[in-house]
Amino acid sequence: MRQLVLARSTSLLELGLRRVAGGVRALARRLPRGAAFAAALVLAPVAPCSAEAELRVVATLPDLYVLTRAVAGTAATVGLVARFGQNPHDMEVRPSHMLLVRRADALVRNGLEEDSWIDVIVRGSNNPKAQRGSPNVIDASLGVEILKVPTGRVDRSLGDVHSTGNPHYTLDPGNLPTVTRNIAAGLARVAPEHTRAFEANREALLEKVAEVDRRWRTLLAPFRGARIVSHHDSWPYMFRAFGFVEGGIIEDRPGIPPSPQHLAGLVRRMRDEKAMVILLENWYAPDAANLVARETGAKVLAVPQTPGAVKGTDDYVAHLDYILTAIADALR
Ligand SMILES: [Zn+2]
Repeated sequence: MRQLVLARSTSLLELGLRRVAGGVRALARRLPRGAAFAAALVLAPVAPCSAEAELRVVATLPDLYVLTRAVAGTAATVGLVARFGQNPHDMEVRPSHMLLVRRADALVRNGLEEDSWIDVIVRGSNNPKAQRGSPNVIDASLGVEILKVPTGRVDRSLGDVHSTGNPHYTLDPGNLPTVTRNIAAGLARVAPEHTRAFEANREALLEKVAEVDRRWRTLLAPFRGARIVSHHDSWPYMFRAFGFVEGGIIEDRPGIPPSPQHLAGLVRRMRDEKAMVILLENWYAPDAANLVARETGAKVLAVPQTPGAVKGTDDYVAHLDYILTAIADALR
């Protein structure tokens, strides 16, 4: 079900939409899954944007959404394409996504393959502002040092979803100055009258993150060099930022389910290197992680890869704080 991702306005229209959304949630509790889903499609508002706001921005992914929301402040409403808790590597394009993008004045995208489905949505939206090359399209990755860019031949038909490099760059707070600069500059291109507000909001966010970053570093200092395993290759930026070492990945390659041989090799490696923590991005089935944990004695931590995938993690700081606190607790 589409979430009503941002409702800042208190207009009658907005209140009406909230009531409708509440009704959808109530229906969803009562009806079997398929029926509730159909009802949601019929009842869901086509665009979660306020009728009053002048500027409508759409972000493809939850991490970009929470950052864009922080930079935009009250100057824009921000919509989200991939809903909270949805694995963006496993996204199904729907007409509601096209309706959302159709009304957008600006589009914030990941810049790597993480949200490549947005191209299909943009074509369907028929919104020239959202087309590649438009000044209203903001590539949040510009200037970020991208990790794990493949050097050999990349065969997308094998399902590799990181074919232009690892797209999970917002998980290093050190990348936020660059990412938010891209967002603020892009929004200022579209709405120059709000340039100073965007910059002030950005500064406030960076200050808040810098402050909590100092606390995170103190919290994690005793665990530098700890080897951490994960289901998906989500964490190279976070590991680099906080001094962890990648101890192996359950997926053979990003987006590809593990073979028994790969899992056996991982178990051997984890025993040798004494890796004791497995991060399981919580939208994946836990079976493989549990199997590896049984064989090695490691602990499985189910964590939200993106903001909002677990309740109470719907802003940048809360999200990273949840993950880093869980890791510190497990390594203690
Ligand atoms: Zn990924």
